[in-house]
Amino acid sequence: MALIVHKYGGTSMGSPERIKNVAKRVAKWHDAGHQIVVVPSAMSGETNRLLGLAKEITAQPDPRELDMLASTGEQASVALLAMALQAIGKQAVSYAGWQVAIKTDSAHTKARIRSIDDTKVRQDLDAGKVVIITGFQGIDELGNITTLGRGGSDTSAVAVAAALQAAECLIYTDVDGVYTTDPRVVSDARRLKTVTFEEMLEMASLGSKVLQIRSVEFAGNYKMPTRVLSSLTDPLMPLEEEAISGTLISFEEDTKMEQATITGIAFNRDETKITVLGVPDRPGIAYQILGAVADANIEVDMIIQNQSVDGKTDFTFTVPRGEYTKAMDVLNEKVKANIGAASITGDAKVSKVSVVGVGMRSHVGIASQMFRTLSEEGINIQMISTSEIKISVLIDEKYMELAVRALHKAFGLESA
Ligand code: ASP
Ligand code: MG
Repeated sequence: MALIVHKYGGTSMGSPERIKNVAKRVAKWHDAGHQIVVVPSAMSGETNRLLGLAKEITAQPDPRELDMLASTGEQASVALLAMALQAIGKQAVSYAGWQVAIKTDSAHTKARIRSIDDTKVRQDLDAGKVVIITGFQGIDELGNITTLGRGGSDTSAVAVAAALQAAECLIYTDVDGVYTTDPRVVSDARRLKTVTFEEMLEMASLGSKVLQIRSVEFAGNYKMPTRVLSSLTDPLMPLEEEAISGTLISFEEDTKMEQATITGIAFNRDETKITVLGVPDRPGIAYQILGAVADANIEVDMIIQNQSVDGKTDFTFTVPRGEYTKAMDVLNEKVKANIGAASITGDAKVSKVSVVGVGMRSHVGIASQMFRTLSEEGINIQMISTSEIKISVLIDEKYMELAVRALHKAFGLESA
């Protein structure tokens, strides 16, 4: 017998019929002798519908009231799921985040979980009940309902699992796992049986949107084994089969020696590049450029500064597409004259492609293989950045899919 947390996304909770299927699946796990806590999302489309209503009332809704509103989507889901379980003879009880309580900070619409009280949940589990807890929300010190940001039910589930020291957190979703790359770009992309949480963090932040990134951070910090698996399978499929399906996000110590050097190819179309040309090469320049950008709340990703020639250098960095115009304005209005830059140029049509894998730590030559592959395809590399387990390049967006396919092949990631 183990304590297991299940998380179901909006699609899985999308209709009464689907909720009944979730109940069947949960009941199957409970019948096998496990203690089950379920953390569902709102029914698909519901959070958007609620936020849309707010927008119809006012262009700038109060964040506290937005949370009050958006949190109701999950509250409906948990009650419906409890009813569906009771209807098939299972004892079940639902709780909103504040009833548990899941305590968060007060950053409305993007709150962070601080602590979870497990007393009530444990009592219910010991009494044989399935416990259903709203995803996406908690309560702050002052008693206000908070939400955790879009996709936040993933984080709720992993946090609840960590607080209860569950054996595993199962994230049921409409994809059947994490792939070596997006199967829409590479048709023979392969589902990974395991991925380390560090790799998952890189893949998630690089654009593979299977899980809310904060949930992966939680899984890493609390060493919570987390599995991404399909909710579209027959809910009565054999439990032993289901329990090993999908992709397990694990910890490096667990991974096998023979693991491939590269785990996946991630990409991000949402990139733009800005270059500040002819800036004086002296202390404080990077700070003046990036400080102004940060003050405007714009996130910077890759950064390079060239070798200086005659005391002048060029400074290039990337920002998301939605922030491009704002970043250009900030630089032109607030920075250019102050630092005596010659000019500012930009390219809004670039993409980032990355090879990711913990195997990189113990293998040399990954970068050269990556660069050779891109050169054979005639793809120009505009910027490079690396971490211990990732190499990223910025390229013309026209070549992104070609680059992903070529690298996927070069590193032998295709399915057998
Ligand atoms: N219902 C929330 C959203 O749509 C949270 C979630 O589904 O994870 O973002
Ligand atoms: Mg989601």
